Amino acid sequence: MVDLVIRNALIRGYEGFCDIAVDGGRIVKVGRVRDKGEVEINAEGRLVTESFVNSHLHLCKAYTFLMIGEEALEFYHGENMGKAIYAVEAASKIKEKYHEDWIYENSKKAVLEALKHGCTYIRAFVDTDTKAKLEGVKAILRLREELKDYVVIQVVAFPQEGVLRDPGSEDYVWKAIEMGCDVVGGIPWIEYTEEDMVKHIEVMFTIAKHYDRDVAMLTDDAGDPMLRTTEMLAIKTIKEKWIGRVTACHARAMNLYTDHYFGRLIYILKNACISIVSDPHTGPLHARVKELLLNGVNVALGQDDVADAYYPYGRNKMLEVAFLASHILWMTRLRDMDMLYDMITKNGAKVMNLKNYGLREGGEASLVVLNAKSVYEAIWYQAEPCYVISRGKIVVENSEETKLYI
Ligand SMILES: [Zn+2]
Repeated sequence: MVDLVIRNALIRGYEGFCDIAVDGGRIVKVGRVRDKGEVEINAEGRLVTESFVNSHLHLCKAYTFLMIGEEALEFYHGENMGKAIYAVEAASKIKEKYHEDWIYENSKKAVLEALKHGCTYIRAFVDTDTKAKLEGVKAILRLREELKDYVVIQVVAFPQEGVLRDPGSEDYVWKAIEMGCDVVGGIPWIEYTEEDMVKHIEVMFTIAKHYDRDVAMLTDDAGDPMLRTTEMLAIKTIKEKWIGRVTACHARAMNLYTDHYFGRLIYILKNACISIVSDPHTGPLHARVKELLLNGVNVALGQDDVADAYYPYGRNKMLEVAFLASHILWMTRLRDMDMLYDMITKNGAKVMNLKNYGLREGGEASLVVLNAKSVYEAIWYQAEPCYVISRGKIVVENSEETKLYI
């Protein structure tokens, strides 16, 4: 007898239907399972995969769009992102109202939404600077603890206003990591000079190395081909031997680089084993996802925003993110869809350095039983999963039925 058996599942990479046995939160068998399960699910030929991973989300800002208005949005989405820096300034006005209590409520709503759609791993960026202070950090750390049996939340201490531009924010990042944040953030492109951008990366690496933490920064998030912070971050990673522990999010200016420079950048990214998280639906420019993937760079997709100053929509639904990316990146062939699906599952897990992730014997039993019979159908319809399983326990069962009276 084991805790849970899923029968007649379609699994990526396997022929025919398989069973999955789960015990003690782990997958103990994939194949023909003779043991009985305390709980049994008949997948009836549906696709069962690892649960979804959202490796880039500004969680403290969720549902603030109507509180702040459209000014930032106009800057961020207009003029091919040439005025993105104004957007950060306009968006920061919300922080005058920052308070742990409402951030906690909004964030909880956003995380439960993610769970409903099958996402059980989130890397949450939380503003940590002289305006936001530690209000967001306190809220999200509380949430991480409260929901730890259902969702893995990695909290990134993120100095959104810059480090040199916002003296004092560095202290808040030190404090946030001391309080228990998992990852050291950064946004070097926001600084005034290239020298300051380099310094920004240096300061954040000092903290990461002191506490032995991974690093995740927002790089080159504007329409300026001269921005080079993705490269700066990769070079620092190599020099500090932080190989495989660093992620660059957005990296949108890459879209404007010459092929010569882009070729050199790929070489450096690969040497640093840097992952890129792209979110092509939240801005008119995006990283060159397909080329990066074809050249062996790990790329994941992130939700980025849920109804905030930079993007008015977002349901924390990774199948929706993949569907949007399919159009924006023109990845519409069946093999492209497999790549998209990887970007919201295992590639995201690599970003978050989730060691036990994977639908394999010994892997963590965090799974979705989809209401689809292929990756194609899953992305096409984005139907809610029939079941969401987190570490061996069923945490969501979606059984809503539409009645058609014709
Ligand atoms: Zn972002």
